[in-house]
Amino acid sequence: MNEPDASDPMIAATLALAHDESEDYAPVVPPIVQTSLFTFPSYAAMERNYTDPKPRPTYSRVGNPTVRAFEEKMIALEQGEDAIGFASGMAAISSSVLAFVSPGDRVVCVRHVYPDAYRLFETFLKRMNISVDYVDGNDLGAVEQAPRGARLFYMESPTSWMMQAHDVGALARLARAAGAVSVIDNSWASPVFQKPLTLGCDIVVHSASKYIGGHSDTVAGVAVGSREAIGAVRSRICPYLGGKLAPLDGWLLLRGLRTLPIRMQAIESAALSVARKLAEHPAVAAVHHPRLAGALPDGLTGTSGLFSVEFDGGISIRHFIDALKLFKLGVSWGGHESLAMPAKLARTQANGPNSVIDFDVPEQVVRLNIGLEGPEALWRDLLHAIESGKKGGD
Ligand SMILES: *Cc1c(COP(=O)(O)O)cnc(C)c1O
Repeated sequence: MNEPDASDPMIAATLALAHDESEDYAPVVPPIVQTSLFTFPSYAAMERNYTDPKPRPTYSRVGNPTVRAFEEKMIALEQGEDAIGFASGMAAISSSVLAFVSPGDRVVCVRHVYPDAYRLFETFLKRMNISVDYVDGNDLGAVEQAPRGARLFYMESPTSWMMQAHDVGALARLARAAGAVSVIDNSWASPVFQKPLTLGCDIVVHSASKYIGGHSDTVAGVAVGSREAIGAVRSRICPYLGGKLAPLDGWLLLRGLRTLPIRMQAIESAALSVARKLAEHPAVAAVHHPRLAGALPDGLTGTSGLFSVEFDGGISIRHFIDALKLFKLGVSWGGHESLAMPAKLARTQANGPNSVIDFDVPEQVVRLNIGLEGPEALWRDLLHAIESGKKGGD
């Protein structure tokens, strides 16, 4: 073979830029392995890797060391056997569901499921001739009937908007007895406060954009479960839909995870303090927070910072929202910053089926995300905004 002419400056520059030896400095933070592909030293090495049950990374859509480090931490936290990082919570949800359902199948889902999961079911699954029935997850009698003949039982506990905490172990047992695969969205509690695999669920999904990332700087997701269940998602769906977590985002999630337990502790106590004060305010009709609803169900060991407050009819939601200073108006949650999101505004979202309308979330409900600003300052902000809301009008 002819050696390239290294005296040609263009060729020399190109050669110098094309390749890198990897170096290991034993960094305390794992590197962001920001590469699309991984090379092999020989034909035989690549051939061996293609049939190896534990192959080393070949291409980052399928596997990447930074992403794997995140997946392994999630396996440990959720007490699973395998995990897949996704580019969003919705990619984790759609991939986990689509791995198990086929045209003609039936899915059962709890009411008050996350709005975009609802839209996935009501549009995409229906188009695939897959029917979805919704049940009240707190009505065990109804749930007992529902999963019969269903291929998959989709759960979320506590639920979106109304924060209903279900007996996850009981629901998982009913799903299993009916032969349905159970998938649960555990974004609200995080693995710090709930480990659904230990309660009998088959797959746990997270929007890692929320508490796992924890700093409102990335959109990501993850699915965790047994080797068999995650293996099904990996082999039937994952490479083809291709919604894989990127290395930089995996690195941000690893950083977020370091402080997850301590953030959840701080957020739990701040949210409880604010929720209890709101519950005693005369302008408040109800506070939807699992701890205020009574004893927590088995397996839910703590509460996070997302709950909703339902004002009486005398409060103008528009004036209340516009008077808030510390709480910002925004979707999403789980970061360091406190947020408010009114149901009244969510009802006006026009693109497709609207779960806030279809599940009858009351118009006077405002969802609050409690961040890390401290409960006293947040309470003063809310009190002041409630006074402004009393001006009435729309
Ligand atoms: C935000 C959210 C999702 C979707 O996650 P993305 O990362 O935005 O795709 C799923 N479930 C719940 C409960 C959520 O709040």
